[in-house]
Amino acid sequence: MKKILIFTAGFGEGHNTAARNIRDALEHIAPDEAKVEVLDLFDACYGKLNDLFRKAYITAINRTPRVWGKIYNVIDGTQFVESNMMMLTKMKRAMSDVLTDLEPDAVVSTYPIYNYVIDAIYADGRRRNFSQITVITDSITVNSVWYRCMSDYFLVANDDTADVLRNAGVPEQQIRIFGFPVTYRFAEMRDDRYRNGEKGPRRILYLINSGKKEAPALVRRLCKRVDVQLTIIIGRDAALRKEIENEVTAPANPVEIVGWTNRMPELLTSHHLVITKAGGATVQEAIAARTPVIISQVVPGQEEGNARLIVEKECGCLAPDPEAIFGALNSAFNHAENRLKTWVANISKLSKPDASLQIARFILELAIPENAPPKKLSHLSATQPMGRDGRSILLCDLHAHSIYSDGKLSVGELVDFYGQRSFDVLCITDHICDHTRLMGRMTNLTGLVLTLDRVEEYFQTIEREKKRALEKYGMILMTGLEFNKDGLTKKSSAHLLAVDLKKPIDPSLSITQTIAEIHSQGALAIASHPHEFRTHWGKNTLYFWNNIDQYAPLLDAWEVANRDDIFNPIGLKRLPFVANSDFHKPKHIFSWKTVLFCGKDPEAVKQCIRVNRDVSITLYRDHRIGFGYGDLEQAARFDYTVDESGKGILPFRVYHMKLA
Ligand code: ZN
Ligand code: ZN
Repeated sequence: MKKILIFTAGFGEGHNTAARNIRDALEHIAPDEAKVEVLDLFDACYGKLNDLFRKAYITAINRTPRVWGKIYNVIDGTQFVESNMMMLTKMKRAMSDVLTDLEPDAVVSTYPIYNYVIDAIYADGRRRNFSQITVITDSITVNSVWYRCMSDYFLVANDDTADVLRNAGVPEQQIRIFGFPVTYRFAEMRDDRYRNGEKGPRRILYLINSGKKEAPALVRRLCKRVDVQLTIIIGRDAALRKEIENEVTAPANPVEIVGWTNRMPELLTSHHLVITKAGGATVQEAIAARTPVIISQVVPGQEEGNARLIVEKECGCLAPDPEAIFGALNSAFNHAENRLKTWVANISKLSKPDASLQIARFILELAIPENAPPKKLSHLSATQPMGRDGRSILLCDLHAHSIYSDGKLSVGELVDFYGQRSFDVLCITDHICDHTRLMGRMTNLTGLVLTLDRVEEYFQTIEREKKRALEKYGMILMTGLEFNKDGLTKKSSAHLLAVDLKKPIDPSLSITQTIAEIHSQGALAIASHPHEFRTHWGKNTLYFWNNIDQYAPLLDAWEVANRDDIFNPIGLKRLPFVANSDFHKPKHIFSWKTVLFCGKDPEAVKQCIRVNRDVSITLYRDHRIGFGYGDLEQAARFDYTVDESGKGILPFRVYHMKLA
C-alpha cells in the first residue's frame, strides 16, 4: 500500500480544489493500491488565527482587490517566507509528527509554504524517504515562492507557466506539464454542444461569485436576449437568490437558477460560454470543458495569470462591467459566430480534461521508493551568486581519506556524504608511504595506507565515481594522494597532498621529485598540516615549515587549517592557503573548509588555489545541509539573508562583503 500525503491550504479556491481532485483521481485509478490523506496544516495549527487570516483574505478580495494585489506583490518581492518562519514553528512540529507517523511514500503540496517547512525539518541532513511533488496552481503569473524551495518535481498547468520556471533556472527534468488538476470527471464528460450544426439560443452560464451589486441589472438585460439561454449560479446566498428571481420576469428563453452545486463539470460542458471572475479553479475547469470565458473580474496579483491566460491565448475576453459583457456576447455571436469559433478552437488546444488522472499516475509511479529521484538542488545552485564571468561560490574539501587507507567510508560513500551536503569539490587523498624508508615500511605493514598493488584499483574506482558525483550531485570529484614522508622526528616528517592526479606516482621518489611529478600532471602540491597541532590528533609534521625557503617556491598551497586546527604562522607568512578536514570519519565533516570563487571546473579550481585570490575558509556546520535554505528558523531569528546557493548563511555573507 503506497501512502500519499497531500498538503493544501484554504487560501483562495485553487489549492483545495487541486488537492481534492488529485486525491479523487488517485482513489479512482488505484483504490486498493494507495492510501491518500489530504491535510490542511494551516487549519490544524492555527485554527482561529487561520480563520481570521482567511476571512481577511476573502474580504480583501471582494472589497479591495487592488489592496490584495499589492500585498501579493510584496510577498513575491521579499523574504516573506523566511521572516515568517518563526510563526511556522508550530507547523514544523505538526508536520514533523505527521511525517513520522504516516511515513508517506510521496508528499504532494498544492500550497507553496509546505516545502519550506519540510526543508526546515530536514535541515539536519536526514534523508527524505519520500518523493516531493509540488502542484503549482497559479498560471503564468507564478509567485516565486513556489519554486524557491526543494521539490523533486513541479507540476504546472501549461507551457507558459513552465516557461516561468525554466527562466528561473528550474531544470527541465523537474518540470511536468499535465494541465490543472480539474476533477477527473471532465475526462469522462460527453460534449454535445456543437453536434450536427445545433441551432437556437446559445447557453450562457453566469457565475455570480463577485460583483454582486451589478448582477441583478445584468440578469435583467440578459434574459431579454433571444440569442441567450441563461443559467445562473448564485451559491448559498439566499438574499441574492431573491433579488435575481425578481429580475427574471418574462424571459426570452427559460432561465435556470442554481444554488450551491457540485455539477460544475456538467454545467460547464453543456454551456457555450461562461461569465465568471478569474478564479483559479473555475478558469481551469472552463478550459478543461473547452468553454470560452468572459471574465467579469480579476483579483490583481494571484488571478492575473488566469486572466492573462484566457486573454493572451484568445480563449475569451475581459469584460469588467455589464456593458462590456453585453458587448462581448455581441462580438461572439455576430459574423456567423467567428469569434466564438476562434475561442473554442483555442481553448480546446489548452484543454487537458484528464490532468488529474495523469498526475495521479505520475504520483503513484514516484511513490515506489526506488523511483524517487536523487535529492539535489540543481536549480537552486544554478541561481547561486555567479559573476558575469561564470564564477560561482564553491565549497571544497581537498583532503579526505577512504577505506583504501585509514578512512571509515568507501569512495562511493564519501561521494554521497559530501554530495548530500552540497559540496562542489572533493578530492580523495589516501595515504601512500615510501616503502624504501624505514617508517614507510613499518606503516605499510599496518594496512592503514594504500599499498602499491592497490594503487591502480584506487585510481580506477575514483575515476568511475567522478561521473556519478557530477551527475547526481553536481560535485567535482578529484583523485589525490597524501604522500607520507615520515622520518623519525617531527622535524624530518612531511605530508604532501597531491590534488587532481591523472596517474599514480612512485612513492619512493624524493619530495622535490614528487612535487615535480605532481606538477607535470597539472595537479596541485599542497603542504598538509604543516605546523604544530593543538588538538594533538596527529603526529606533527614540520619538515616543510622548517625548510620554508626551499619549499615555498615549489608548493602551490599550504593548509592554513586542518580539521579543527588553525595554523596562524601560515597566515602570518602570507603563504597561499587552503583549509581541509583531513576527513577520516563522518564527524570530521565539522571542520575547516576551503571556499573558492571561481568557475566550476577542475582547471579553474586549481588555478584559483595557485593564484590564491578569491579564496576563503569556512568552519563547516551541518545545519545548512544541502537543502537550499539551511536552518530557516535560525535565519529568521538572526535576521540573516539566506542566500539561494544552499551554501548557508554566515560564511557567505562574510564572503559577499569581501567581494563588495
Ligand atoms: Zn596527514
Ligand atoms: Zn590526511
